Amino acid sequence: MNTVTVALGRRNYKIFIGRDLLARLEEFLPRELSSRCLVVTDDNVDPIYGQRLINVLKSLGFRPAKVVVPAGEASKSLAGAEALYDRAFEHGLDRRSPIIALGGGVVGDLAGFIAATYMRGVPFIQIPTTLLAQVDSSVGGKVAVNHPRGKNIIGAFYQPSAVISDLSLLDTLPVREMRSGMAEVIKYGVIWDDAFFQYLESNLDAAMGLDSRVMQAVVARCCEIKAGIVAEDERESGLRAILNYGHTIGHAVESLGGYHLKNHGEAVAVGMVMEAVLARQMGQLDVKELERLMALIQKVPLDISLPGEWHKQQAIELMRQDKKAVGNEMFFVLPECIGRVHIKKVSDQQLDDLLPVE
Ligand code: NAD
Ligand code: ZN
Repeated sequence: MNTVTVALGRRNYKIFIGRDLLARLEEFLPRELSSRCLVVTDDNVDPIYGQRLINVLKSLGFRPAKVVVPAGEASKSLAGAEALYDRAFEHGLDRRSPIIALGGGVVGDLAGFIAATYMRGVPFIQIPTTLLAQVDSSVGGKVAVNHPRGKNIIGAFYQPSAVISDLSLLDTLPVREMRSGMAEVIKYGVIWDDAFFQYLESNLDAAMGLDSRVMQAVVARCCEIKAGIVAEDERESGLRAILNYGHTIGHAVESLGGYHLKNHGEAVAVGMVMEAVLARQMGQLDVKELERLMALIQKVPLDISLPGEWHKQQAIELMRQDKKAVGNEMFFVLPECIGRVHIKKVSDQQLDDLLPVE
């Protein structure tokens, strides 16, 4: 097992990474929790792991209630949150009652939002079950629900008390979700760590095959990198923005496809390549580095071609809504080489010149 600490002073917490951790849950839970607790999961994960977690919690003396939300982004809503508050009240949760997220990023963001706001904050435990959630959404304390006008509009920064990344839970993850998560894994190599990128170049097949030694190293390194960035800039006033590499264009691609043609990681893969092409066209990135990136993404495999639903002007409009945009100026996270990025202002005109029409 690996342990990564997210260093935030009094709010330090640990991420535990390894196989078969659910059975050892008591080693990872903070002390002084009330016995009543609320497990939040979705209707794909519940039939596979829900009862197992409930049994473990009961064996430790907890009195768990469980809410199962429909799988998918639509559950990350204020209406979804309200149903959870109701259940929390009914079950008599108090300020020391933990809320436990068992699921991917949707469940984690929703449950975390409840934990942040119910009684102004109760302990929050993450048990992420997708690769994306283990390397990204469960770490760093961003919690949110969506508003009809935008994703993640209503949210908070609220750190969990512990993250338990049980790699065995990934055994049942659909391959498309596995590939999508791998896009975020590759992102960490590009923004921070060439040696890690090289490790992926040599070990990608083993990772995709869920080789336990390789997966443990991969998830742990991603968490270390994210934890380091979050510790330096918890509320995204500077450095943390580099985690958005591939996302400015990625979000536009995701949105143009109505969020179903390409899932998040698939869109980020396209975004990472296009933003690297942009860096290349601006003379900042060596062609060899661009080729390495494209080769690794294709090895997953993830499709790096421009999506059929690409409309340049609409894409630019969507990018203007990116939270890094200020007035008419857009900011992109652009790679200088594998392992180092910087944030660069790109004007409308430059973007118009640089982006392909189709
Ligand atoms: P998800 O939670 O929708 O899970 C993907 C699918 O896999 C779902 O159908 C789910 O039911 C299924 N699933 C999950 N675990 C499984 C398992 N072990 N076995 C079988 N099926 C399983 O999607 P996601 O990609 O994990 O997360 C996406 C969400 O995360 C988005 O809402 C996004 O906004 C959010 N996110 C948040 C942060 C953050 O910092 N808070 C960062 C990145 C993404
Ligand atoms: Zn992402």
